Amino acid sequence: MPGRLNGSRLAEILTRESAAFASRTAGSAALLETARGVMPDGVPMAWMAGLYRHRPIFVAEGFGSCFRDVDGNTYLDFNHADLSNTIGHGENAVTRRIARQAARGMQFLLPTEDAIAVSQLLRNRVGLPMWQYTLSASAANTEVIRIARAFTGRQKIVLFEGKYHGHIEPTMAEGGAPGANADAAPDGMGISARATADTVNVPFNDIPALARALQDGDVALILTEPALTNCSLVLPEPGFLEEAYRLAKAAGALFALDETHSWQFAYGGLIRAHGLSADFVTLGKGLGSGMPLGAYGMTAELGGFVERHRDVDVAQVRGLAIGGTTYGSAITLAAAHAVLEDILTEAAYTRVAVLGSRLADGIERIITTHGLPWRAFRYGPRSGFCLAPELPRNLDEALPSLDQAFSDARRVFMANRGIWEAIASAGPQVSFVHTEADIDRYLEVAEDFIAAVSAD
Ligand code: PMP
Repeated sequence: MPGRLNGSRLAEILTRESAAFASRTAGSAALLETARGVMPDGVPMAWMAGLYRHRPIFVAEGFGSCFRDVDGNTYLDFNHADLSNTIGHGENAVTRRIARQAARGMQFLLPTEDAIAVSQLLRNRVGLPMWQYTLSASAANTEVIRIARAFTGRQKIVLFEGKYHGHIEPTMAEGGAPGANADAAPDGMGISARATADTVNVPFNDIPALARALQDGDVALILTEPALTNCSLVLPEPGFLEEAYRLAKAAGALFALDETHSWQFAYGGLIRAHGLSADFVTLGKGLGSGMPLGAYGMTAELGGFVERHRDVDVAQVRGLAIGGTTYGSAITLAAAHAVLEDILTEAAYTRVAVLGSRLADGIERIITTHGLPWRAFRYGPRSGFCLAPELPRNLDEALPSLDQAFSDARRVFMANRGIWEAIASAGPQVSFVHTEADIDRYLEVAEDFIAAVSAD
C-alpha cells in the first residue's frame, strides 16, 4: 500500500459506501436490468461498464458543471466524460450553434465555411498550417500513422510506455525491452499480433532509449503525448521533446504530438505553451466538447502529400486510406467553431489555470495536513493525488503513484457526497465552467475522504 494507506480501512469504506451508492441509485439499477436485455452489460459502449467498480448510473440531465441521475442525485462533475466535454452540460454557446446548424442541415459530404474558420483558428493556435477532421482522436491518430507510413515508406512506429492513443491496433501493444519491438497486445483484446509487430515502446524521458530505437533508420513515426496523461501525469523533462524531435528528423522519421488531453491544459496545447515542433498534432475530445470530433494538423509538406495521394477514381488510383463518410460534417465543425471562438478562449484558459492551482494547492494542503508522503499532480487545470514522494518521470515511476483500492474507495465515497470523481488514472481536472466554490466543494469532500482513510 502506498504511503500510510490503510488497506483494511479502504476495503471497509468501499463496502460501506458501495452499499449506500446502490441504495441511492435504485432507479438506475432498474433501468440497467432492462438495458441488459439489449446491450452487453446494459450499456451502449463497453467502457461505460468497465471504467468503475460500481454499476453505471443513467443520466437524466446536465446543467453547467453538474448532472443529475434518474434517481435525482446531483453530481458536480470533475471527470467531464474523460475530458471529452470540458465546457459543461446543458445550454451554452455550442449547443445554440449546433441547434442553428442542425436546422440548416447537418451533413452534406461537402465542405461548409465553418471548416475554413475552424482550420484557421487551429492553425493560429497550434502553428501547423493544414488540417483534417475525423470523428474521434483515435481515428485522427490512425490517419496520422497511415500518412506517416506512406510518406516515409517505412512501417515502424515508436511510442512511449504508459501511452494511450485510442483503441487502435498498432498502438495497443505494451512492453518489450526498451527500444525493441513491443510485445503483442494482451490476449483477449481481439488484436492481431501482426498488427503490433512494427511497434516499439520506449520509456518516456529516456533519450538514449529513443536514440537506440531510431538507430536503424527504419522508423516512420514517433507518436507521443507531450505529457503522458493516461497513467497519472508524467511531465516531459526540460529539453526531452525538443531532443526527441531533433532525433526524429535526423533519422528521417516524422514526429506527432497527441494533444487530445493536453490541448485542455494550455491555450493552443503544449506545442504552443512550450514552443515545441512537430509534423502532426492530433486533437479530439474537448475540441468537439460533446460532439464527436477528432482533428489533426500537419505541415505544409505533409498537406501537399495528402493532396497528391487522394483517390482519383477508386477503380484506378487508390489514395491514402483516410477519411470517412461522416468526417468533417457541417454539424461537427459548427460545434468546433463555437467551442474555439466562444468558449476555449485565451482568457478562459487563464481563468481555468488559476482554478487549477487552487485545486492542486488544496490537494497539497490535504496531503500535508494528514502527514502523507505524497505529492499533488499539477499542470494548468489538471491535478490529482500522486501517492508517491516524487512526481513520476516514466511509466515505472507512475505506477506506484496510483492505487486501485484508493481510487475505487474514493470514487464511491465522493459520488455519495455529490462529486463525480475523475477516472482512476486521470484527474480531477477543472473544466471551463467550474467556479471557485466548485473547487472548494471538491476539496472539502476529498479531505473528508483522506481523513477517513488515513485515520489510525
Ligand atoms: N489520445 C489520447 C491521448 C487519449 O487520452 C485518448 C482517449 N483517452 C485518445 C487519444 C482516444 O480518444 P477517443 O477515445 O475519443 O478516440
